[in-house]
This record gives sequence, structure tokens and C-alpha cells, in this order.
Amino acid sequence: MKVITADPTGLCFGVKRAITTLEEELRRSSRVYALGSPIHNPQEIARLKEMGLVVVETPEEVPDGAVSFVRAHGVRPEVLDALRRKSSKMVDGTCPFVKTAQEKAKSLSQEGYIVIILGNAAHPEVQGIMGYASGEAHVLASAEDIPPGLKGRRCGLLSQTTQRVETFSELVAAFVSVSPEIKVYNTICRATLARQQSVCRLAEEADGIIVLGGRNSANTRKLAEIASASGVPSLWVEHAGELDGRWLQNKSRVGIAAGGSTPDWLIKELIQKLEKM
Ligand code: SF4
Repeated sequence: MKVITADPTGLCFGVKRAITTLEEELRRSSRVYALGSPIHNPQEIARLKEMGLVVVETPEEVPDGAVSFVRAHGVRPEVLDALRRKSSKMVDGTCPFVKTAQEKAKSLSQEGYIVIILGNAAHPEVQGIMGYASGEAHVLASAEDIPPGLKGRRCGLLSQTTQRVETFSELVAAFVSVSPEIKVYNTICRATLARQQSVCRLAEEADGIIVLGGRNSANTRKLAEIASASGVPSLWVEHAGELDGRWLQNKSRVGIAAGGSTPDWLIKELIQKLEKM
């Protein structure tokens, strides 16, 4: 059986940068408090916890004078301020692409636009971006969700970094007939797009695709959706241990695609397991 790894795949620039920064800080300080999971991968979180990472849910849980860490997905500005007040040192691991989306939400509000964010309202990155919009703002999952009250009003559009380009294009097109003035910032991250395109290429070569990544990872979910829509049999696993050998029956070229928060060591583990089968 031939194993084909998607290119590019695995850790994106932003998450790699956040993990490296966090690891450096964990070596300096024995304990670092992160607000929410710093990356959406349970196996990587378990490894970092062994190094001294403590995951908390609110800034109040960070002990006074401790070292705190802001995840790659970013947080609302008031949360950032609360962490700064509480900590002796606050390490900001927010991905620069997420920061751009936050800044665009802020500037659109300041310019008087209603801020429209394409994304999942429950996702921490979207909640963080929403916090930078000072006026009216809406999170929409697709073009079908446009509220009737926006007709005739000025709208500024941007996207959660992990959304599909096609979905954002549909939303922008729909707003052309809703709003007399729209301003659009394409805040979809290129790392996400490149990983999505690599799954499409994989589908042309492979007769089975394994998507590897945390079930709480939005970008891994998108890869799994693309793999499934390609028509090639696909499977989503968090780690090599979840792979059932029966799924590999009658497959001769198996492709691997890993989400942007899947560390290299999990990809290597899966390749090694496949090579032994
Ligand atoms: S997917 Fe893109 S925006 Fe999100 S952390 Fe990675 S590089 Fe940053």
C-alpha cells in the first residue's frame, strides 16, 4: 500500500508559532496559564500539560502575578486587558492573521459599517473578533442566514480565518443585492486554503483519504468535509490508535491530510502505523 501525504499539511504557521512561543515560556517559567485550549488538539495539549501548562476558562482563574498565554485564536479585547492586569507577564500567541481580522472588525465599526462575520458564532476565534466590533455586528454561517433587517444598510464583511472561499464568495454575492454599500476584507487564511486545496489534489491520486486532527478543530472539520465531498472514501481520526485496519481493505493508495493544529509527531505515528499494515 502506498501512503501519500498531502502537501502542505499539518501545523500551520500560526499554531506552530504559538506552540514554539509557549514551549519557550514553559522552559523559562515552570507554570503558564492559558485561557482556553491553546490549540485544538487534545494529544498536543496533554504533552504541554506535562511541561507545566494549566488551562483555565476565565481570567479570574489565573493567579495574581502568574504568567498567562493567549492562544492562536485570540480573545476579546476586554479579556486581553483582564489578563494583562492579572499577570506578571502575558505572552500573546494570537496568530497575526487572526489579529488582522480583529483589526478589520474594529476599523469597519469605526467607519460606521455593520460588521458581518462569516463563521461559527460559537468558535472562540469568532467570539474574539466580535469583541473588536464596537457597533452592530452579526455572525452568519452562510448566505441563507442574512437577517431581513440589513436591507439598505452599509455592511462590512469579513470571515473567520478557516472558512471556505466558496462560502465567503456566496455571502459577498448575496450582499450585493441586499446592501447599497459593502466593504469586504478577505480574512480567510492562506494556510487554510492551501490545506483545503491539497485535499482536492489528494482525492485525484488516492483511493482512500484519512483526515488527521482534533475533533474540536474547525479547520480539520473543513478538510474532512472536503474529503467526504470528493467522493473518495474518507475517514477522520484524532490519532493512529483510532485507525481500524478493516477500513484499509481493497485500498492501494491511501492519502493523509492533517489539520492546521495537528502536530508532526501525530502524523509520523500514523504513517508508521500505515507502513506496518
Ligand atoms: S489557520 Fe491561519 S489564521 Fe489560523 S492559526 Fe493557522 S495560520 Fe493563523
